[in-house]
Amino acid sequence: MRYTQLLIPTTKETPSDASLASHIYLIRGGFIQGVGSGLYNFLPLGKRVLDRVRNVVKEELDLAGCQEASLGFVTPASLWIESGRFEKYGKELLRFKDRKDNDFVLGPTHEEMMVNLVKQTVKSYKALPLNLYQINLKFRDEIRPRFGLMRGREFLMKDGYSFHVNEDDMRREFALMEETYKRIFSRLGLEFRVVEADSGAIGGSGSKEFMVLADSGEDTIVVCEKCAYGANIEAAVRAPKGCVVAPPEAQFAPFYTPDSTTIDDLSAFFKVDPYYLVKTVAKRALFDEGKSKIVLFALRGSEELQEVKACNAVNANELVDISPEELASAGLIAGYMGPLEVPDGVEIVLDAMLKDADHLICGANKRDYHFVGVNLKGLSAIYKEITAVQDGDGCAHCNGTLRYTKGIEVGHIFQLGTRYSEPLKAEFLDENGKSKPFVMGTYGIGVSRLLAAIIEQHHDENGCIWTKESAPFAVVIVISNTKDEEQLALAQKCYEVLRAKGISVLLDDRNERFGFKMKDFELIGFPLAVVIGKNIAEGSVELIQREGLVKSVVTIEQMIDEVVQRCCSSY
Ligand code: ATP
Ligand code: MG
Repeated sequence: MRYTQLLIPTTKETPSDASLASHIYLIRGGFIQGVGSGLYNFLPLGKRVLDRVRNVVKEELDLAGCQEASLGFVTPASLWIESGRFEKYGKELLRFKDRKDNDFVLGPTHEEMMVNLVKQTVKSYKALPLNLYQINLKFRDEIRPRFGLMRGREFLMKDGYSFHVNEDDMRREFALMEETYKRIFSRLGLEFRVVEADSGAIGGSGSKEFMVLADSGEDTIVVCEKCAYGANIEAAVRAPKGCVVAPPEAQFAPFYTPDSTTIDDLSAFFKVDPYYLVKTVAKRALFDEGKSKIVLFALRGSEELQEVKACNAVNANELVDISPEELASAGLIAGYMGPLEVPDGVEIVLDAMLKDADHLICGANKRDYHFVGVNLKGLSAIYKEITAVQDGDGCAHCNGTLRYTKGIEVGHIFQLGTRYSEPLKAEFLDENGKSKPFVMGTYGIGVSRLLAAIIEQHHDENGCIWTKESAPFAVVIVISNTKDEEQLALAQKCYEVLRAKGISVLLDDRNERFGFKMKDFELIGFPLAVVIGKNIAEGSVELIQREGLVKSVVTIEQMIDEVVQRCCSSY
């Protein structure tokens, strides 16, 4: 390709809403164009990268025996009502009506559609196992679309679904998909970690996420310094945790504690370690059909509430904050709430760390009073794991220490079981002629998000540095002076030779200043540039590697060998 034929609108201007390197450089490099909150057009260069990434995904999935299909983006709401997700999915699901008043949704994920497809077409165990996928648009009306392709509303996802006769076979496929995903992300040049995850609105039993390690990642992941354990903070577990400070001794009694409404206040007032204080957090839990209730989550004062765990503990669709007025009308007083003598109509969930705990101080659910000398032994209540693992906690699998790190979720695989096949009545006949629901797995990759993840890991202060399997072109030939006939002719020759060798090469034939063209090379981030300039008198050109901007003067033959070798070596 010739630069002058392509639409590559690079710009010096940084978009005002962009803070991440990937967002800034994908726009400035002319890869994408914003059209509205969380909505992007892909320009020719962006489309080339997207297609390359998509091809890596497709090649590896096809090798693993998966089949590509393509399902409708517009989905009848009836399937979502049958699966029970029409309401559960919340506001991210875009619902709309057609002219005949029929309800539809724009697919945010396609479990319902794919189960329906297989239900209509597969009747016998003989057709199983089956793994079908698509690489298609998704729409999620995200509350905070941001960071460019990282969190769009419309985005490209690879979503795969597997169908099995039993759990064992589904687990075999789950392991195969884990390996396949590792190959995909390695080929794309990403440093990543596979971690245990919460299954969110998709449901099912076990799930794992693929996290690209980057400080800008939105997810906090917990990793062990010593063993291979890694988990999203939403699902992380730790070794049992105690406190070295001696417990405060007291008889059970209400205690006057004016103006002591925070853990810090109380810790100073009683001179006790926060470990012995009870932190009580009130939330409104939202359920299907507009139902909701107030829940108090009680945990040790040294810990933090993990909202996803808390939400799962009460099986709610979502937890939202409560206004002081709502609290008051439920008979609760901020700063003085606690797990004892809870007003009627308010549910209480205690953290597992508080099971049978003694020597505690907690809010008395009465203004200006806390209880001291609280012993929860024998208290019949709901105990769940609702706290966040903290940096420095002990690993539950070895005696190592857990640390926080940041990640970008680029893939998520789920062991689904019969979560969708049962409600949607998708069944097959087993060897004995008995009807059984399909046992399923589901597997997602954020294909458009991958472009952002690659750049988050591979950029410098000048722009993008595309990896070998994601680059829009492997090499750009830059002509130093386009008015120099000799340089033009040599550039043309190099272009033809490289093309004949199957290298994807761009010829920068623009009649622009050399410095300007080099700035574009650095911003766009092709892995290699060949500069045809003053060295041609000696039969040499300059080869520049984008990563580190490493330069070498080589003969034409050396340049060709080097480019071919770099482009064709296996990953
Ligand atoms: P997140 O926690 O980041 O919101 P998710 O867990 O809701 O993602 P999944 O339902 O697991 O996402 O979807 C599969 C994959 O699709 C994710 O691993 C992610 O890479 C990608 N993805 C999800 N939401 C978006 C989005 N808004 N923009 C771009 N990619 C997304
Ligand atoms: Mg996910």
